[in-house]
Amino acid sequence: MSGLKREGDPVHRLDALRGTTPQKPHDARAIAALAANPGCTRRALLDGAGLDKDAAARHLGFPAPFGQSPFAITRGNVFESLVKADGCAELLRMLRELLGLPVAEVAYHDVENVGAHLRHAHTRALIDRAAADGQDSGTLYDHPLLSLEIAGHTAYLEPDVVAFQLGGRFHIVEIKSFAVIDGQADPAAVAAAARQAAVYVLALRGLLEELGHDPLKVSHDVVLVCPENFANRPVATLVDVRKQLAVLRRQLTRMTTLDRLLAELPDDLTFDLRPGEDGRPTRPVAELADALRRATARYAPDCLSACDMCFFCRDEARQEGASDLLGRNVRDELGGVASVAEALGLADGARDPAEGQEEIARLLRNAERLRRECLN
Ligand code: SF4
Repeated sequence: MSGLKREGDPVHRLDALRGTTPQKPHDARAIAALAANPGCTRRALLDGAGLDKDAAARHLGFPAPFGQSPFAITRGNVFESLVKADGCAELLRMLRELLGLPVAEVAYHDVENVGAHLRHAHTRALIDRAAADGQDSGTLYDHPLLSLEIAGHTAYLEPDVVAFQLGGRFHIVEIKSFAVIDGQADPAAVAAAARQAAVYVLALRGLLEELGHDPLKVSHDVVLVCPENFANRPVATLVDVRKQLAVLRRQLTRMTTLDRLLAELPDDLTFDLRPGEDGRPTRPVAELADALRRATARYAPDCLSACDMCFFCRDEARQEGASDLLGRNVRDELGGVASVAEALGLADGARDPAEGQEEIARLLRNAERLRRECLN
């Protein structure tokens, strides 16, 4: 009986939340996005259950325009091929400059040549050997296959690049096609790349630990490779992902301990899309929307670039007049004031502060007084 899922246990409850909808495997981008809004119960449950959020959002009438355009995908592939051409020659040039890599000590393994079903085992063997080896066996691993446990399920991650060892440490290399212009790149794109690289760091640290090596052999400094200026010439930068790692770890731990969140939900609650024979959801839209509203969301404008449910949750926040719509900074500063109407009422004195709201009410009244003085 030990292998069976029992009613009431978290994995069983998560399976019940997903119902008959096929499970959507997590990829690195999706796992990285978990760290973008760690406080959202709705997202934690949907991801814990492995529900296809894109399919749910479409069925609800709120599709999110995610996914890169074919043009961007082609540009990304061309740039990646350039960086990896001739056994990663261009990448090696940059790593030599950035990390002081001694040329003579570099080996190159393309794990993709091994065949999909063996890639994970082969990656393990190569990393195990490298970690046990001497200090300076510099090696590049192209297309390794790593894994990470997400709420009781194994997600396989295919970094398009590489773990690299130098002086006993591994570095994750992340190739992105957004441009660095005059030393500056789009901060949102860099943040998303850092979150994604942090997923690989975590997965590789997990693998080292499993193999009995020190997980801290994987550096928290990842190598981000982007095209420089308006040409395709690659440039490499070290990005410290310690903060992203901490958030990701917290969020993954939260997903393995979803019991408390699940305990607050009605026993018969399900987000099942009830796919028909053609795979399309058949569940009445209003019923699905009601079910989702039972799981509290924590909408913030950043959701628009990180979660398939963003338009549904934004619409809900608008209907509620939630202060979440104003962004995370404002929401955090307004701590304990849930709606815009409530904030305005406290600011103009039309509403008395509840217990614990005295300080924020005083600040809002001051802000309102200053606003009036400026306007007059
Ligand atoms: S879009 Fe909705 S479900 Fe997704 S993270 Fe934001 S609030 Fe949570």
